[in-house]
Amino acid sequence: MNIKSFPIKDWLQQNTIINVSGTMTALGASMVPEEIRQCVDESLGCFVNMDALQAKASITIAQSTGAEAGCITSSVASGICISLAATMTGIDLGLVEDIPDIGKISKNEVAILKGHVVNYGSNINQKIRLVGATPIEVGTVTVAEPYQLRHAITEKTCAALWVVSHHTVQSGLLSLQTFIKLCHEKNVPVIVDAASEYDLKIFIDMGADVVLYSGHKFLSGPTSGIVAGKTDLIKAAYMHQSSGIGRAMKAGKESVVGAIAALERWGQLDHKILHENEYNNLIKIWNGLSKITGLCLKKIPDPTGNPITRIKVSIDAHASSLEIGELCQALLHGNPTIVVRDHHINLGFFEIDPCNMKPGDPEAIILRFQELESLLEKNNSMSSIKDILGPRLSSYDIKDIPMVDTGKVPWTYDGTGDREESLKCWPERYLQH
Ligand SMILES: *Cc1c(COP(=O)(O)O)cnc(C)c1O
Repeated sequence: MNIKSFPIKDWLQQNTIINVSGTMTALGASMVPEEIRQCVDESLGCFVNMDALQAKASITIAQSTGAEAGCITSSVASGICISLAATMTGIDLGLVEDIPDIGKISKNEVAILKGHVVNYGSNINQKIRLVGATPIEVGTVTVAEPYQLRHAITEKTCAALWVVSHHTVQSGLLSLQTFIKLCHEKNVPVIVDAASEYDLKIFIDMGADVVLYSGHKFLSGPTSGIVAGKTDLIKAAYMHQSSGIGRAMKAGKESVVGAIAALERWGQLDHKILHENEYNNLIKIWNGLSKITGLCLKKIPDPTGNPITRIKVSIDAHASSLEIGELCQALLHGNPTIVVRDHHINLGFFEIDPCNMKPGDPEAIILRFQELESLLEKNNSMSSIKDILGPRLSSYDIKDIPMVDTGKVPWTYDGTGDREESLKCWPERYLQH
């Protein structure tokens, strides 16, 4: 049927995005492969017994992760909520219904390293507070030591949450092994947020009690979260999913079927071919961009050890007075839109991630950079103040000093900008033309 009031194909074509930023919820997460879409499609036309379907999911999750059991929820964010709630209530449906009231619940504190209190698109502490629990931040942003974790755990501690992510502080903190050991010494279950991690087994192997994976990131499923862990905690988490707070974060049959299919597909995939393709695309882009004056390129590994190589792109301050942020904007506002990985833009670089490319994307990216080459040419900057200033707003004269990779971004950069301002303008700003 052609739904005339919503010509989705046209809209998608007019709003094409080339995504070299990684798997981002704000960009619709992943491109779901045909074989998963077919399974989802079949589920949409029927009724199912959701408890029976989730029991099937439990088997698939156990096989994929090595955990005892599992269930599907709507996202990792909701997985954090229902698994924390499980540690607060156990399998007492009365207490499950009480959440977020904690009047009859004795354990409601969640230990989390201060360096793990991240924003993955939303604030992780809010997911703790959402179930009536209180985050207890351990250590400082850059240092966490065993005594600080021991000190944070009390008879009120229901769980400890560990976050695996490039967003977290990557040095100076406890290791996961030590974290698990200290928590288990005090009988505190450890929940690991491994939303973006490729290894489905390692955290269970290390002794984590519950591990959370995103169904819509590298697994390429529809929007969903995979909760894997010890049987008693999974039983309790499923109570929250089906009859407690999980109702507000519901996973429908399409998510459950899609997540099962995504896990099965992941198990059967030839991972060597997958990563070879990604790497070859990256090298194609590398070769194209190396011919462009004014860019500094470097190949860098993934900070959490996923098998991904990315290109780090910065601007050579000797050859160009363009700022990295201006280059990002030019890519974003071209046709098609190219979204780069810009978490570190205030350090003077962005990255190109090869995980979500379609055929033709590498060529389109090179073409766009070629179009922008004139912008990169010396003294052809879109803005004015910094022609006289060196990297990071310094007036120190760097002329003729041999140095590489100088990030041409002033200290005046405001991190990621102001999301409140941008949300206040929604939806008008998208409907103007
Ligand atoms: C993406 C991400 C999340 C959120 O996952 P959703 O499934 O989109 O809710 C949580 N934690 C980390 C570390 C992430 O990278």
